[in-house]
Amino acid sequence: MKLEHHFASLGEAFSSETLIQPLLEQRLVEFNQPLAAFLSVDIKSPETKRILSGELPQKSSLSMVYAGHQFGGFSPQLGDGRGVLLGEVYGQDGLLYDLHMKGAGPTPFSRRGDGRAVLRSCMREYLASEAMTALAVPSSRALALYDSREAVYRETPEAGAMLLRTAHGHIRFGHFEYFFYQGKHAELDQLIDYCLTHYYPDCLAAELPLVSMLTEVVKLTARLIAKWQAVGFQHGVMNTDNFSFTGETIDYGPYGFMEDYEPNWVCNHSDHEGRYAFSRQPGVGLWNLNCLMRCFSKYLERDQLIAILQCYEPELQSHYDTLMMQKMGLDSVEVMQDLVPDLLTILAAEKLDYTVFFRLLSHLEANDCEPLLDEVVDRERLRTWVERYQAARLAMVDVDWSQTSFDMLKVNPKFTLRNYLAHEAILAAERGDYLPFRRLLNVLNSPFEEHPESNVLAQRAPEWGKSLEVSCSS
Ligand code: AMP
Ligand code: MG
Ligand code: MG
Repeated sequence: MKLEHHFASLGEAFSSETLIQPLLEQRLVEFNQPLAAFLSVDIKSPETKRILSGELPQKSSLSMVYAGHQFGGFSPQLGDGRGVLLGEVYGQDGLLYDLHMKGAGPTPFSRRGDGRAVLRSCMREYLASEAMTALAVPSSRALALYDSREAVYRETPEAGAMLLRTAHGHIRFGHFEYFFYQGKHAELDQLIDYCLTHYYPDCLAAELPLVSMLTEVVKLTARLIAKWQAVGFQHGVMNTDNFSFTGETIDYGPYGFMEDYEPNWVCNHSDHEGRYAFSRQPGVGLWNLNCLMRCFSKYLERDQLIAILQCYEPELQSHYDTLMMQKMGLDSVEVMQDLVPDLLTILAAEKLDYTVFFRLLSHLEANDCEPLLDEVVDRERLRTWVERYQAARLAMVDVDWSQTSFDMLKVNPKFTLRNYLAHEAILAAERGDYLPFRRLLNVLNSPFEEHPESNVLAQRAPEWGKSLEVSCSS
């Protein structure tokens, strides 16, 4: 493993040297072979093993300092309270990837926390980040999971674990907020240069590199959230310290994947006001970008910042439209916009499963509504909608019905990360059985394939599985 130390080279104002502190009887239980190969990381080589278990201390491993707006209120100093950045590695695409260990022990930014993570939360992050990647949503990724015999105390004692993860970057909106509100302008300059050089080199050729980079960040964020809305992903804790400057989904805590469609769903049971409800995510994205833009008020005029922010809504809307057009198998935005709102109203009223419905829609025949109607109580209302939809599909010129169905099956997954499935996999792993986890991971890695042997994993949650709660405790 050839570790680079680009972020570390920024200097002491940006981080604190922090070593991985191994857990009791730490054990590698799962690793991501294709990703490891892509990054040329041999997880099982003795040297890598020693580095990743903290036995071979890396002088440049560090915890980052940042700030952030948490549930609307500003926290002037946060940081990696339980994460260690080991360094970066080059992927086969020539881009840099961070290697970040979660749950690695206390850091100077742990505040009252223990610096640890529990097996439950590491597994949830592993599953979700790989599921998102398979759905083509930019995301941090899981490289390796370690369990241990160390007890970590949450509401009850739980198994301690660590997750080795990667992302293009772990620079958050909150990084800029930290230096801006501390009045550390030289460091803010440095951070801007660092991001331009490492993440947005194409912008360096622009007349106004900073404007060009920020516009790119706004657009990446807009496209990211458009994807969340289309696949039915709810982040759960959209604080600015959990928002990536490289447009990736990071920080998987009490997230949720939409099961029964409910636009105002709040997956995080610690979010009492529903600030981060599913339907609010696009608006929160803009709110967060607004926080980010404030940090550049020393460099750009107010009008310039507003102009950059104005790229957000059209970018999000057009990307969402494209994705929904693909999900629906339609080729016209107008037709899609005519059909989707009515469909979502029906899905919400009938509490239909988002994934199951779109998969059934992909299998729909040109002249038969029955398989869909069997899903609902109000058959006539859905029949009217399906007939409109079929007519729209048939009205497309030079488009073959079965080819469209085939294309739809490539964007409407059969499998999604149902909360009860994650829960069952976690319970089994806590007993030492990782088979359910691997089975689930396998279908989430290729959710558009049929996997007939795993049909049971495509089923809706049983009643008990619908009331499971997830919170910020992890
Ligand atoms: P999050 O809600 O996951 O974004 O976490 C908010 C902040 O709390 C971050 O700065 C984390 O590093 C920190 N944090 C979360 N859990 C722990 C923990 N168990 N020990 C120390 N810090 C933590
Ligand atoms: Mg966080
Ligand atoms: Mg977190």
